[in-house]
Amino acid sequence: MTALKPSSDVKYLKGVGPARAEILASRGIKTVEDLLDYAPFRYEDRSRLTAIRDLLPGQTTTVLAKVLTAGLMRTRRGVYIYDLAATDGTGMLRCKWFNALYLERQKVFRPEQRVFFYGKVERDLYGTGNLQIIQPQFEILSEGEPGESLEVGRVVAIYESLGGLGPRVLRRLMATALAALDGNIPDRLPPTVRRAARLLERARALAGMHLPAKDDPIEKLAAFRTPAQVRLIFEEFFHVAAGLALKRRHRKASPGIEFCVNPRAREWVKRILPFHPTAAQKRVLKEIVDDMRSPKPMNRLLQGDVGSGKTIVAIQAALVALDNGYQVALMAPTEILATQHYLYIKDLLKPLPIEADLLISARRAAEKTELKRRIAEGETGLVVGTHALLEEDVEFGRLGLVIVDEQHRFGVLQRQALIRKGQTPDVLVMTATPIPRTLALSVYGDLDFSLIDELPPKRAPIVTRLFGEDERPRAFEFIRDKVRQGEQAFVVYPVIEESSKADLRAAVRMHDEIRRNVFPELRVGLLHGRLPSEEKEAAMRDFKAGNIQVLVSTTVVEVGVDVPNATAMLVEHAERFGLAQLHQLRGRIGRGRGKSFCLLVAGERINPAAAERLRAIAETTDGFKIAELDLKLRGPGEFFGTRQWGVPAFRVANLVRDAEVLEWAKREATDFVERPASKEEFDAYLAFLRQEWPRRYGLAAVA
Ligand code: ADP
Ligand code: MG
Repeated sequence: MTALKPSSDVKYLKGVGPARAEILASRGIKTVEDLLDYAPFRYEDRSRLTAIRDLLPGQTTTVLAKVLTAGLMRTRRGVYIYDLAATDGTGMLRCKWFNALYLERQKVFRPEQRVFFYGKVERDLYGTGNLQIIQPQFEILSEGEPGESLEVGRVVAIYESLGGLGPRVLRRLMATALAALDGNIPDRLPPTVRRAARLLERARALAGMHLPAKDDPIEKLAAFRTPAQVRLIFEEFFHVAAGLALKRRHRKASPGIEFCVNPRAREWVKRILPFHPTAAQKRVLKEIVDDMRSPKPMNRLLQGDVGSGKTIVAIQAALVALDNGYQVALMAPTEILATQHYLYIKDLLKPLPIEADLLISARRAAEKTELKRRIAEGETGLVVGTHALLEEDVEFGRLGLVIVDEQHRFGVLQRQALIRKGQTPDVLVMTATPIPRTLALSVYGDLDFSLIDELPPKRAPIVTRLFGEDERPRAFEFIRDKVRQGEQAFVVYPVIEESSKADLRAAVRMHDEIRRNVFPELRVGLLHGRLPSEEKEAAMRDFKAGNIQVLVSTTVVEVGVDVPNATAMLVEHAERFGLAQLHQLRGRIGRGRGKSFCLLVAGERINPAAAERLRAIAETTDGFKIAELDLKLRGPGEFFGTRQWGVPAFRVANLVRDAEVLEWAKREATDFVERPASKEEFDAYLAFLRQEWPRRYGLAAVA
């Protein structure tokens, strides 16, 4: 048998049979090195186990004890509790799991087993007064098992289970892999970078992460700050940052369009501007136009909180391109938003000799064909649309500027597809979802960045209030009052997935209920993503025109909808929304001069995380604070829209925990790309990155 290599299929590792190999492969672990990149999520100090006799309530700890009895009970209120008693000879510990029928069904515990229990110790106030751990994490040790030294008497790594593979199995596999490779793991960081940054070698770092040394302080391990862990975190960030730096360099090197700012464009802008731009709007417009005038292609992210006025900035940039005889494509994520942009722009540009069109898939086939002809022959200057713009047979005669609104709703690849419809057009992407700094660095590292950090003047603040379920009638009364004063309101239902039929039914039912029983005297409309396009358009138009007073809607109104007279919003089941989403929803009001009110109705029995979200949203309207908090509360994996943003799936690194390492790695990576120590080193690294970049990070090709 040939020696095991990092690149060997993981099935050749001792202890991995076909079944396990399949489970691992389904989680993206194909090679031995993939396995070693699977990081623990915490560590447990088993060098000093606490005796049960010495446990204190409130302490979070590990106990090694022998099972005495275990079984399922049912309380008088019908709740199933799996109850286990265990001893270590010094005392007795109870462990309880709620509704854990599977523990019974699968006969997980048997008397005499030795088990590690980990969790928070508390006193059982209702039963015996004994100490107990509710829902502990556990690992069962079988009797006389070899390799017990991996489990006891040291600090051990704890992994999230993969399929059926628990932490103990994974720990064993890691140890086997490290022993078999015996340090023969190539280092992926350029050697000069590694040495200058005084980082451990990769092989030693992997060993240190999976099998911590005796003298590694547990606090450092827990914070992922041992030299081994830091080295691996740095490495991951370095690869992403270097890839982005290369892409950026590559794009900057290809020739783009050199737009001119002519007097005619200035005059156009003067003629159509409906208000005085804010200082921030002027500043970002200048940044954008400077890019457009330069011979290098523009790649700029325009970020500004909801309502900060990005649309008009984009339109001004569009006028510059149009005046130069180029076409402009503006892509929005929903038909509602695209249609709204189109109607607004058509109206605004009426005095100018510019043709604008709307391309959405809902239009009739004959219309679309004609429209595509107009686009291809350059008859239409400004095309607003949805994903329909990306269809293959949409060809532009002379596309010079691509604008993507609410960019976070699109994948990186979709952005690319639109860009390819022109010859290195300038690109402006906009987002209203505030992006925490760490995400911005890791995802948009290849974009230049402009920020509108100021809201248009004379905006009255939005007041946010929480209501319990039983206070709903009061919330509805409040809405009725506002509407009687001539203002308009949204009532939003949590249809998280527009494809979920049950959710949609609930929203439709509520619309009926509100129309008939709550506000029988008001004009109530309905809007959701599954309505036919004409009905969506009609609902939006009627709401804008004030014919609809209360719009019952799903989260489709989350992006872009702009009706300044709407000053109240009632959100049902607010606890089900993410923070960023609530912030976006709330951004639909507070767009006019009237004081606005956001009423959040939430159930009584919500979990602590939801409660914290609601408290936060009621306290601040600062999008950046909200985004940072959201990222902390939920972790980068679940952060709203993260997947669409194309955030790379980091294996060891964590964007919340490791923000400073990211900045450091980014500095080093940019430096390396711009001034590599030698051509050989650079070429070797580039070869590695070209191969690994798409595979690991699922991002489009590097330079
Ligand atoms: P967003 O950045 O969320 O896309 P919009 O471009 O939709 O924001 O602008 C929000 C609202 O503010 C719109 O009604 C727009 O007409 C208005 N607005 C934008 N800029 C100004 C300004 N400088 N002065 C007054 N109103 C403005
Ligand atoms: Mg907008």
